[in-house]
Amino acid sequence: MNSPKTLEQFKKLLLNRKKDLLSLSNQSVSARSIVNLDQGVIGRLSRMDAIRAQAMAVEAENRRQSEISRIEIALSRISEQTYGLCISCEENIEKQRLQNDPSVAICINCAKNT
Ligand SMILES: [Zn+2]
Repeated sequence: MNSPKTLEQFKKLLLNRKKDLLSLSNQSVSARSIVNLDQGVIGRLSRMDAIRAQAMAVEAENRRQSEISRIEIALSRISEQTYGLCISCEENIEKQRLQNDPSVAICINCAKNT
């Protein structure tokens, strides 16, 4: 089990990460909006580029949203005092692993087995 001080640090990391993700999400609203299909404005190739760029922006946003949900789960696990325990085997998650990604919910062994 992690000490209250350590938990506080992870909580701060999680909240900061969430804030960054939300601001990235807000900044990319226009990049994700519907591609203008007016061929008079852009040629066929650049239109395909625009569609591809939009798809990538949507994909990045999906990744951000799923990370935000993982962060929210991690934050609620901090308040429930189950943070840092693997949700699969209930062993402690390696601290190094949590430092790399404070939103992980399973230990390295369980991650290898999935
Ligand atoms: Zn585990």
